[in-house]
Amino acid sequence: MKLALICCIFLLMAALSARATEDPLAKIATDPRCARGLAWIEKNSAWVTDQQIRLTEIPAPEFEEARRGEALKELFAAGGFHVRTDKTGNVIAERAGSDPKGVILLAAHLDTVFPAGTDVGVKKNGNRLSAPGISDNGVGLAALAGLARALSESAIRTTKTIVLAGDVGEEGEGNLRGIRALVEGYGCRLAAVIAVDGPSTDHITTQGIASRRLEVSVSGPGGHSWSDFGEPNPITAIARGIVRFSSFSVPEDPRSSYNFGIIEGGTSVNSIPSRSAVKIDLRSENETELGRLETALREAMRGGVQDELSATHAPSDALQLNYRSLGARPAGKLPDDSPLLATIRNVDRFMENRSRLERSSTDANIPLSLGIPAVALGGGGKGAGSHTLDEWYDPTGRELGLKRLFLTVVALAGAE
Ligand SMILES: [Zn+2]
Repeated sequence: MKLALICCIFLLMAALSARATEDPLAKIATDPRCARGLAWIEKNSAWVTDQQIRLTEIPAPEFEEARRGEALKELFAAGGFHVRTDKTGNVIAERAGSDPKGVILLAAHLDTVFPAGTDVGVKKNGNRLSAPGISDNGVGLAALAGLARALSESAIRTTKTIVLAGDVGEEGEGNLRGIRALVEGYGCRLAAVIAVDGPSTDHITTQGIASRRLEVSVSGPGGHSWSDFGEPNPITAIARGIVRFSSFSVPEDPRSSYNFGIIEGGTSVNSIPSRSAVKIDLRSENETELGRLETALREAMRGGVQDELSATHAPSDALQLNYRSLGARPAGKLPDDSPLLATIRNVDRFMENRSRLERSSTDANIPLSLGIPAVALGGGGKGAGSHTLDEWYDPTGRELGLKRLFLTVVALAGAE
């Protein structure tokens, strides 16, 4: 029995080393140090899931990521990395390479879209874990914690420096301030950036969708619901504007979208509000189209205010319309012949993982817009319902995502 097992291992090693001669990835994977890292992943995916649950249960609304960041920092430090928090709030772990000029950055965002007070307790039902933020981006954070441990277990030395970062401000109104600071900080030393976001391993995000986020507000005199009836109402004006814009046709190519995400205003049911506001997210694959969308939005909101003024026979200055930018994400695209893309495709081929190219709006937008090679990849497992309270995650098969990231980062950083 024991002899049969030894024979099997011998045959497997022989097959792998034969493959190693032709496939650069097989060569990396069979390096004993790398094999140790991969074996660590194989054995410890339950530990990675435990960290994901722990991190998800620490609330991290936009601009309040510090506590979750501290927990991630401890995990990085336990992996033997040199850790620090920058002034933006990013948690950064570095593993120095022999060449100080090259940096491979992997970043996962710490923040969620859920406001303070949201129940972020993780509920288990079989393999399924449910909680707001469990997939977006509990997976990415846990993947980085797992990578830190796998890299330190492997004791592999690399040419380029590997940087793992939990970054702030990816969601909502954060305006990508975390990744902006990281990219500015490492500057031209960055050889590649990988945003680890969400679970799925079936894609490589190579194109960053441009977006603009705005707040449109309308102010007026307000008043009593009975005695001032007939005065222009800012909520009604905003509603008229939304209806006008909703009839605007959005092209399928270039793919574009809009969302009225938050609406607010008013103080009581029997008062005419003195202010109302709505927050809108506009996206497009094309910057020109995005500009057209914003122009149409402004026209529609202006029209909505006009409609309300005409309906109430109010003077033209009775309502004031204001716009406030909540952030803009630049577009960018990784060239099809990029060595970064070739490396990930080699890894996918080696791991027999099927993946397609995808477009999305992620941390990768910033480096891509500056011409720095960047992609977004998933951390492994399955999940859905992101940005809703029904978000869930299933860690089955997460090893694939972790090994894919591990091999990609070692291939990019260069094993010595
Ligand atoms: Zn995300």
